[in-house]
Amino acid sequence: MRFENSLEFAKVLDKKDPLNQYRDQFHFPKHKGKDVIYFTGNSLGLQPKLARTYIEEILKDWETLGVEGHFEAEKPWWDYHERFGKQLSKVVGALPEEVTVMNTLTVNLHLLMVSFYRPTAKRFKIICEEKAFPSDQYMIASQVRFHGYDPKEAIVTLKKRTGEHNFRTEDVLKTIVEVGNECALVLIGGVNYYTGQVFDMETITKAAKDQGAFVGWDLAHAAGNVDLQLHDWDVDFAAWCSYKYMNSGPGSASGCFVHKKHHGLTDIPRFEGWWGHHKKERFLMAPEFVPEPDVNAWQISNAPVLSMAPYLASLQLFDAVGMEAIITKRDLIVRYLEFILNSVSDKIGASFEIITPSNPEERGTQLSVFLHGYGKKVFHYLMENGVFVDWREPNVIRLAPAPLYCSYTDMFNFGLILEQAIVSQ
Ligand SMILES: *Cc1c(COP(=O)(O)O)cnc(C)c1O
Repeated sequence: MRFENSLEFAKVLDKKDPLNQYRDQFHFPKHKGKDVIYFTGNSLGLQPKLARTYIEEILKDWETLGVEGHFEAEKPWWDYHERFGKQLSKVVGALPEEVTVMNTLTVNLHLLMVSFYRPTAKRFKIICEEKAFPSDQYMIASQVRFHGYDPKEAIVTLKKRTGEHNFRTEDVLKTIVEVGNECALVLIGGVNYYTGQVFDMETITKAAKDQGAFVGWDLAHAAGNVDLQLHDWDVDFAAWCSYKYMNSGPGSASGCFVHKKHHGLTDIPRFEGWWGHHKKERFLMAPEFVPEPDVNAWQISNAPVLSMAPYLASLQLFDAVGMEAIITKRDLIVRYLEFILNSVSDKIGASFEIITPSNPEERGTQLSVFLHGYGKKVFHYLMENGVFVDWREPNVIRLAPAPLYCSYTDMFNFGLILEQAIVSQ
């Protein structure tokens, strides 16, 4: 398709877009009475209108039923988390019994590392990416110290080549082979939060398994954004916050995956609590822990249903649309955004550099743009003119047009505002 930087062309794309109708299912912040152009769905997804209904349903049940709501509510609270498995498993390519919702992301990764980071004198190293999201760095280092190892020896960071913005799969595989049988765990962000690069999760998982390591993926920027086949790829575990592309609301409950082959084991180390106890006997309050037969064995506390409700609401939309349609639109709208960026740059002679890979297989919804020669003023101009983007030091703005609610017209209008932002400097 030959793109054009014109309002008419953008409108034609919107008209043909089968997801266009879903925009209306979300609340947009307003700028001068109009919807903002929202590029920060990779940070906090917009509120699905259905979220309020689902939260109010729980408030109503609590109001009228009190404690009885645990069992008598329209959607009973005691097994509320089980409502996610079927639909959420389709988003991440898993079996329904491999996926649940609990806690928050960093907490879940800690809990999963209890099971899947089991260092021995010989096999104690963790491979992760350099400059991983800070929470992941702190988490991994503290786990290593907790087990009595030195992070400097135990953590092997994947590096980019000098002058390059992205990791090369061949280099990742080389590191995995080099660490070899000292590698206890490979734990990487499936989509890099800074550049938007999508790792070749299937190939990397296989290479790590060949060395006998466990493999976990932090899918904070991947869930609801890229194609995932966690079960078939033989991933051991994964977790994701759901307030980014999955629109579950600030600080809301996190999703979590544990491969079926680890279910039902009696000798797997795990931090346990009553919500992981087999549901049939949970309320007998017996002293001995009998695990749930599936991923829910990793549950600890009773379900925070008020924080889960918006996630469940959002998931209805994902289920109605399907990841395939989301990914199809994602590829087109990101290509259009890329075209708009290049077109603005050609027109006014600006030099911005897209550091996200140009290969559609290696990127999702996000484009990270280096603003050579322009500073934070451009960022502020955009924000003041109704464009929500985010700024990352030293000089990068991240643009993530979430396919469920961003339009092609948004991309065109963004081009106009960006041009003004630069010309006005
Ligand atoms: C957003 C994000 C987090 C956030 O962790 P919380 O525990 O939800 O605060 C962690 N890791 C990555 C890679 C992220 O992108």
